[in-house]
Amino acid sequence: MALIDLKSLDKPSMEEFVKNEGLPAYRARQLIHWIYEKNVTDIGDITEISKPMREKLAGKARIGALTVKKRLVSEDGTEKYLLGLEDGNSIESVLIGTDADAPDSCLTLCVSSQVGCAIGCRFCLTGKMGFIRNLRPHEIVEQVLCAQRLIRPRKITNIVFMGMGEPLNNLENVSEALRRLTEFVGLSRRRITLSTSGIIPGILELPRVAPLVNLAISLNAATDEVRSMIMPVNRKYGLAPLLQALRRFPLPGRSRITFEYVLLGGVNDTDEDAARLVRLLRGIPSKVNLIPFNEHEGAGFRAPSADRVLAFQKILTGARVTAFIRKSKGADILAACGQLRAEYT
Ligand code: SAH
Ligand code: SF4
Repeated sequence: MALIDLKSLDKPSMEEFVKNEGLPAYRARQLIHWIYEKNVTDIGDITEISKPMREKLAGKARIGALTVKKRLVSEDGTEKYLLGLEDGNSIESVLIGTDADAPDSCLTLCVSSQVGCAIGCRFCLTGKMGFIRNLRPHEIVEQVLCAQRLIRPRKITNIVFMGMGEPLNNLENVSEALRRLTEFVGLSRRRITLSTSGIIPGILELPRVAPLVNLAISLNAATDEVRSMIMPVNRKYGLAPLLQALRRFPLPGRSRITFEYVLLGGVNDTDEDAARLVRLLRGIPSKVNLIPFNEHEGAGFRAPSADRVLAFQKILTGARVTAFIRKSKGADILAACGQLRAEYT
């Protein structure tokens, strides 16, 4: 009989498993603690359980883990992991650090939610792969645990769903993963950000199924014409209904919605675009991340000049819209936004 992967179990299933083994309920909490907080991948390492019981459990179950097919470390410290799933597919996760000496130093893991992506944005390499399949909750959570094992004793502090895939097209599994990341691993929801190309039904559902996580929107254009050209999803969920949904989005406390805007030279980077963006965001507590296009072969787009990027930012900040320029990290290992495609499958 195939062994049960304990990592694939949600809380009620773990409780049921323990019960079926004739064990008291607290054993479920113990297993969860060892798997998610102590991050063991072998039942034999759970020393809080007696050896004979560990041996008995190991005859029934195992603790699944992703295989690390490749670990690339960039000159700037960014790391990219090519991770193997049990069905032979691969995904990528990226670890981005701020200066380790900074007082509020963060280590952010950029996780994937799908193998490939169905949205097909024209500037994105993951989009070029097409859609292969949704990741299951434990495959999302295990990206965090796996990276955490690799970088011990450093600790991942933040999670962004900005790797491969459209998280709102896999919302059920993503929300279960968020539950496990917060309840089992102990991460705060305020340190988790979900990034979407603007799937309106998913945005409307989010406050119920994944309350309190931060929301980022890949806006990338200030007119429907340009947005539909570079992001075909805009034909279904256009700018006006998208922004209307965001205006109504319940934001806790002083938090804001992040808008990502990939600057494509000569396509969406004019002064008029910046002025339009200011108008679009009116009434939404927001901050804008400007991401100069990360070039890749055959993309058909180019990065804007550094001056253009600064001029674009100046128009936003001049209108009191907070705007940061996101320096691309890990470009030498193809770990920057939009460069993930798990090419070594
Ligand atoms: N699918 C979600 C999550 C992926 S996030 C989403 O699109 O929001 C990936 C981010 O990288 C998005 O904001 C996207 O606009 C940006 N991106 C994609 N390709 C890029 C490229 N070549 N250069 C810079 N940013 C890119
Ligand atoms: Fe998918 Fe996001 Fe890439 Fe668009 S930018 S193709 S939504 S991963």
